[in-house]
Amino acid sequence: MLGVRRAMASLGADAWLITHLPNIAYLCGFSGSAGVLLVESARVTLFTDGRYKIQAAQEVTGARVRIVRPSALAAASEQLRGRAKRIVGFDPSQLTVAQKKQLDRSAGPRVRWLPRAGVVEQLRAVKDATEITLMRAAALLAGEVFGEVVALIKPGVLESDLAAEIDYRLRRKGASGVAFETIVASGRRSAWPHARPSAKAVRKNELVVLDLGAILRGYCSDLTRTIFVGRAPARIRGWYVAVVEAQQAARDALRPGALAGAADAAVRKVLKGFGLERHFVHSTGHGLGMEVHEGPRLGLGSASILQAGNVVTLEPGVYIEGTGGIRIEDDVHILPQGTELLTQVTQEFIEI
Ligand code: ZN
Ligand code: ZN
Repeated sequence: MLGVRRAMASLGADAWLITHLPNIAYLCGFSGSAGVLLVESARVTLFTDGRYKIQAAQEVTGARVRIVRPSALAAASEQLRGRAKRIVGFDPSQLTVAQKKQLDRSAGPRVRWLPRAGVVEQLRAVKDATEITLMRAAALLAGEVFGEVVALIKPGVLESDLAAEIDYRLRRKGASGVAFETIVASGRRSAWPHARPSAKAVRKNELVVLDLGAILRGYCSDLTRTIFVGRAPARIRGWYVAVVEAQQAARDALRPGALAGAADAAVRKVLKGFGLERHFVHSTGHGLGMEVHEGPRLGLGSASILQAGNVVTLEPGVYIEGTGGIRIEDDVHILPQGTELLTQVTQEFIEI
């Protein structure tokens, strides 16, 4: 809460209204799926409804809980209504137009709304030691399940069955869910960076991309490996080597004070050297934490400044239409000096 209050002071706000659920969970521990948090100078209030009464009483710290109906948003803005003029911050990217109208109506004309995106996200981007411990565990879990599921890959097995095995095993090992829809893509489908697992069977002499992640005790992991069914031809081995080198170059570019875009530039430079740059069709990585995509983004020209405590993915890839794709993704913790790899899975090219 201290960080929000600091931001309020520097922006001249009297209060801050938080509507994005991961931000609410981060600030007060509430994991329910409906609620609004209002940070004022003298008090912090979580507004939620009767479904979360018992849960909120157990989970919430640092805020009082008000059970309201029908709308938490209306109740929060009514609490702001008064005779004094107030400046209240909110994140415009986390509110619909209809919700903003509701705020205006309930809070009345004395509240001046201050739109500022990403105030809580900026705090979340720097993880403390407790968060890093949780993220290590989430990353190890993804690696463990990857290791088990690789052993199940053989010609004839369906992508969708492999994906189901991944999801099941993540849950059996303690994940509350998958961090995103698991990707298992084989053959020419592996050239689709975001392929959904299909009923296609894995065949001999194909690439298989597996991209999986767990949510474990509120924190996400995100891991990709690409394997080959059979003996890979030299051309494909060459692509694999290029992607490994590109990822290493990105990792070398991660340090506090560096631009997030430098990691992306490093990847593109290496891939260019291999003549593969035009086959890399997405960003190098993204921040990871309570959400699978958060700050800082490691994209082309990204101007955010990296800080110690950031956790980012590095996921260069090459995608060749008609043949297949290769992506290698790891989760990296930026230290005051150097980096810590959270995911612990070999980057050797696995051929089975
Ligand atoms: Zn991924
Ligand atoms: Zn990712």
